Amino acid sequence: MDIDIFEEMKKYGVEQLIFNYDETSGLKAIISIHDTTIGPASGGCRMWNYESTDKAVIDAIRLSKGMTYKSAVSGCNFGGGKSVIIGDPKTDKSEALFRAFGRFVQTLNGRYYTGTDVGTTGKDFVYASQESDYLVGLPEEYGGSGDTAKPTAYGIFMGMKAAAKKVYGDESLKDLTIAVQGIGKVGSLLVDYLIEEGSKVIVTDLSEDSLLALKEKYASIKTVAPDEIYEQECDIFSPCALGSVINDETIPKLKCKIIAGSANNQLAEEDIHGEILHGKGILYAPDFVINAGGLIQVSDPLETGDINHDRVMAKTKNIYNILMDIFDLSEEKDIPTYKAANELAENRIEMIGQIKRKYVGR
Ligand code: NAD
Repeated sequence: MDIDIFEEMKKYGVEQLIFNYDETSGLKAIISIHDTTIGPASGGCRMWNYESTDKAVIDAIRLSKGMTYKSAVSGCNFGGGKSVIIGDPKTDKSEALFRAFGRFVQTLNGRYYTGTDVGTTGKDFVYASQESDYLVGLPEEYGGSGDTAKPTAYGIFMGMKAAAKKVYGDESLKDLTIAVQGIGKVGSLLVDYLIEEGSKVIVTDLSEDSLLALKEKYASIKTVAPDEIYEQECDIFSPCALGSVINDETIPKLKCKIIAGSANNQLAEEDIHGEILHGKGILYAPDFVINAGGLIQVSDPLETGDINHDRVMAKTKNIYNILMDIFDLSEEKDIPTYKAANELAENRIEMIGQIKRKYVGR
């Protein structure tokens, strides 16, 4: 390995990194538990054909840190974790692979809850759940809370409204032009909300078939090639594909006033690119705040003991208010929005950590 694992753990503040290998199924998985001050770690499982183990480790670590902050700022009682399975989701999946993964999750005894992310589906975790009690977001027919993409897309939509209110003084997205990068599970549902609202929608995706299908559903949308999405004249750019898309190369191309999308780790380097966006007057809705709808959906049944979609949507709607607080703090202190969001998250972790120091008896 080219990286020093303990240096990376120190750099990102990771509590525990677990490597899992199963010879029978060929499973190679990494679980990163970032911080469990507020509660057990929670965060999805990504399956991706990583170029190297180093890249998979760094992805798991960065994503798990994002989950700590996401949970803290959105008011969920969970810490941050994430897992990655190294492999091609199109060709390398099997029942044995996900059951082996489930067994590894079970060994953590509730220190880590997981569910779907890029490259994994509810069906995969139906297999995993045969081996583990700590799977969340299973399909509804298997007693789970269902697809997390629904509340996630709703949270992005509400977050866009908060950003529009801050920038234009009006939360309506009607007639605003919104460029959506990635029309997978979240992006496609987001487009439904935007079309209903009367927005002008531009989309791109690596999948030509997805683009054609969406164009057939909504003739009014404009489709562009993946590398053309950054330079579109628009009010809001919405990254809903993968991370690190806000970087040195893409920022000069952007013509938007707002960035608000579902992808995790949108800023290639949080401190550098968050600062540049702030300087350019582009309002960035921090990814871990605006995309918390899915986490809210999987956390809610664990916190309340039952599944209630209306309550989940009501909690998700509150992303609007949380973002407003962040935008206001960013303005008041003249700091980038990601810093304001981190401040709110760190304050909550600190406060709850202090409260938990009290001995409450057995
Ligand atoms: P998905 O895999 O269903 O969709 C991603 C889409 O992006 C795919 O259609 C893919 O073809 C496309 N894509 C990939 N690279 C692209 C590129 N360079 N240009 C254009 N399109 C590209 O995933 P999803 O569940 O919709 O999640 C999207 C993003 O939101 C991910 O970053 C995910 O981590 C994040 N997220 C998802 C949830 C959730 O509940 N699903 C919750 C929080 C965050």
